[in-house]
Amino acid sequence: MNFIETRGNDGQHPEQVSFSEAILTPIASYGGLYSPQSLPELNEAFLNAHLSADYKTLARSMLDAFDVDIDNPIIDRALELYDGFDDPSNPVPVVRVSEDLYVSELYHGPTRAFKDMALQPFGIVLSSIAQNRNENYLILTATSGDTGPAALETFKNRANVRVACMYPIGGTSDVQRLQMVTEDASNLKVIGVKGDFDDTQNALKRLLASKSFKQTLKEKHIHLSAANSVNFGRIIFQTIYHVHSYLELVRQNAIAMGEKVYLDVPSGNFGNALGGYYAMKMGLPVEKILIASNRNNILTQLIRTGVYDLRTMEVVPTTSPAMDILISSNIERVLFDLFGAERTKALMQKLETDQCYELTAKEHQQIQSIFAADFCDDQQGKKYIKDAFAQGYLMDPHTATCFKAYETCREKPLKTIVYSTAEWTKFSPVIANALTGEVDSHDIDALKTIAQEAGIEIPGMISELFDKEVTQTSVIEKENIEREILAFL
Ligand SMILES: *Cc1c(COP(=O)(O)O)cnc(C)c1O
Repeated sequence: MNFIETRGNDGQHPEQVSFSEAILTPIASYGGLYSPQSLPELNEAFLNAHLSADYKTLARSMLDAFDVDIDNPIIDRALELYDGFDDPSNPVPVVRVSEDLYVSELYHGPTRAFKDMALQPFGIVLSSIAQNRNENYLILTATSGDTGPAALETFKNRANVRVACMYPIGGTSDVQRLQMVTEDASNLKVIGVKGDFDDTQNALKRLLASKSFKQTLKEKHIHLSAANSVNFGRIIFQTIYHVHSYLELVRQNAIAMGEKVYLDVPSGNFGNALGGYYAMKMGLPVEKILIASNRNNILTQLIRTGVYDLRTMEVVPTTSPAMDILISSNIERVLFDLFGAERTKALMQKLETDQCYELTAKEHQQIQSIFAADFCDDQQGKKYIKDAFAQGYLMDPHTATCFKAYETCREKPLKTIVYSTAEWTKFSPVIANALTGEVDSHDIDALKTIAQEAGIEIPGMISELFDKEVTQTSVIEKENIEREILAFL
């Protein structure tokens, strides 16, 4: 399978690239993204054939269907990392919470958030390609809290890869920050940036596009890459669990094969939802994809009105910080898939110059035939957490936003798969407050509160963090990122 560019070709980049090229050098002509030229089909025979297959087998078949140019032994080693999840035989449990609502838990990996689903195997894939080519890579990543720990974890001590990870100071939970600043491998650099997530993501995009920065790296024989969700190497692994979750519902006799479901996705940069979109396009029986947001509700606006307008919006910090994003990068791939490169380029340029674009009525209709959206503010989110807990289900504030969309966006009484993107341990102060009204400003106190309230234990991998030595101490202004990274190299 080959990849083409969402904003068309500028005559300098290759017109098509392979999967491995697309993941090594993810930025395309005019600042666009690489997208698959065509998608494989997952018909009912494929789904039936995988009803009794385990997660890794399904993943292998889907990567085969995508015809990726990665050798089988590397794929096998990459997928083996799912054995490190809580239950190797089922890394993504799907549990019924109420009526039609099922939760697909994507957080059972080493850093307790859904980023592990893609980044765990991605680390092996990327480092193996780099080794085969005898090349060295610098992975730049901007994180709002979960990508960073997952990227550091997957690339720690891997050959031919170094990671520079930027996070917004104060924009993450204690646990997230500790997961990053206690990583001490020599190929890892963690940088706290004064600003919000969009600032750090924009700084990352500028660096990726910077000729002078690339030139300096070239002199050091280092290639530049990115592990953010614009990288298709992540999206492909995020398509698999949507199919898996559907099959789980069939296995649990919740639905018959072929019956449609809603996918209900807590969304920020739209990588998770994009995986669902591709799965649907490939043939997974999906009625609609519900896009859940917090008060940074630009996606709700786009899907409801057809207008993406940044002019009146500013990022507001919420209790679901992984979704405190207004520039939602992966929407571009949906626009490209539906409307083509020329139109996508025009829309994206309009966004850059005017901070706003507007779809035509017909385009908007197409979007609405696939997506519905709602947003959930922090107060409502806490109520959903409390109510779900009363029903016996403990969830994090990102997942909670989906419960609102479940209530307001379904037009039909179909089974709904909510994607749970983080374990309770990662956002404990909000959850403790929702459950007991107590205000704990430190994660460790909140973790204890919840553990007591729910009659469970704080997982060892989380409680250990508080005793670990902090080895990563850089905190800088966003203007100094380039200099800081060059000093690390
Ligand atoms: C990254 C993340 C999201 C948002 O996912 P996108 O793919 O960026 O839309 C939601 N919840 C949590 C906990 C996350 O870590």
